[in-house]
Amino acid sequence: MNTSFETEAQINQQQDELFLKQIQYLAAHSPYYKRIFKEQQIDVATIASASDLTKLPFTSKEDLNQFYPELLCIEEHEIADTVVTSGTLGEPIPFHLSEKDLDRLAHNEYLSLSIAGVTSKDKVQLSATMDKLFMAGIAYYMGLRKIGAAVIRVGPGAPELQWSTIKRFSPTVFIGVPSFIIKLLDYAEAHGIDVAKTSVKRIVCIGESIRNEDFTLNNLGRKIVERWPVSLHSTYASTEMSTAFTECEAGKGGHQLHNLIITECIDEHDKPVKEGEIGELVITTLGVESMPLLRFKTGDLCRFYTSPCSCGRSTKRVGPILGRKKQMIKFKGTTLYPPALSEILNEIPCIKSYYTEVYHNELGLDMIRVHVACKEENEENDKIIKDHFKAKIRVTPEVVYEKVEIIDKIRNSLNFRKPVDFMDNRK
Ligand SMILES: [Zn+2]
Repeated sequence: MNTSFETEAQINQQQDELFLKQIQYLAAHSPYYKRIFKEQQIDVATIASASDLTKLPFTSKEDLNQFYPELLCIEEHEIADTVVTSGTLGEPIPFHLSEKDLDRLAHNEYLSLSIAGVTSKDKVQLSATMDKLFMAGIAYYMGLRKIGAAVIRVGPGAPELQWSTIKRFSPTVFIGVPSFIIKLLDYAEAHGIDVAKTSVKRIVCIGESIRNEDFTLNNLGRKIVERWPVSLHSTYASTEMSTAFTECEAGKGGHQLHNLIITECIDEHDKPVKEGEIGELVITTLGVESMPLLRFKTGDLCRFYTSPCSCGRSTKRVGPILGRKKQMIKFKGTTLYPPALSEILNEIPCIKSYYTEVYHNELGLDMIRVHVACKEENEENDKIIKDHFKAKIRVTPEVVYEKVEIIDKIRNSLNFRKPVDFMDNRK
């Protein structure tokens, strides 16, 4: 067991072997891929290495939605665990795991959290949902067990309980959603808790981005470290990938676990983009038994980095997710993605809570409406908010003022795993 310190040649050789195994497995066990290979006259015997990946078809979210029972490669009685995808775009899709897939998932987080610097000496407070058909919570738990760390399963929410548990059990690592950590810090401030004196030295941030395109901390990440002197790590994953990309100490992109996943970054013509250019992340899972995916188009836009990392690992890194392809907004001549709106709103001090909404006007054009709750009712707020938008994206959306309770209720009701700050109401 290692934490990805192989040389580039070793990485490529291991990937080739595992990829061939996965292709042969699909050809033998996947009703869906067997059919697709036949329809598209693909002879898997001609696939010799991972570089032949481009000869194979893509799998889209729509394929997953339409054909998921056919994508299952194991017998019903071999299913060990069932989860659902987050359903950020469209209906959540069931995902099944075999016993071996659960072992693979544990190994994935063993590697991933080791990259983030978690060791057997750590006590880890897990502020993530363990149930509700959620894959990540159980993955963190199993990975931490494999590392040999002690796990404190507090679950999400409940700031008072989070702080009393930190005080009582002295965790060294905290795993949670960054926007919730801001809420925790607000709670600490209001209740006279000196966070700098707590035992937590490291935070692994899940579900939301904490970095700008140039790897500097974005407003969310910055607001955490300004108030809490911790080492901050971002991790990016999804149910479909069943694999995490986690930052090391360098914070220069999430390291790819090359034995568990193959990645591609493609343009709108399905061709690979040049290094450092933005493209859609495409993944091929390795070693998955139940629902392996071939060239799955994640819809997430990012950049790849292949230069050696200062941590000594040679694995490819995935930069911050800039947005989802389908959530692209064309607003008054500007093209943008929801994370850019959140970044602006996270910067404005008078805003207590918010969500943004995009909808079509009567001409079918994209319109943005921002719902905000301000700390104090003040006529100046409107000018401050609009000026921020003008300065950052040159255009100003409609701003609606609401009570914080109403906004938080909406933020937390859309998805049980993390607060949602963007609503796509376009037809
Ligand atoms: Zn690194």
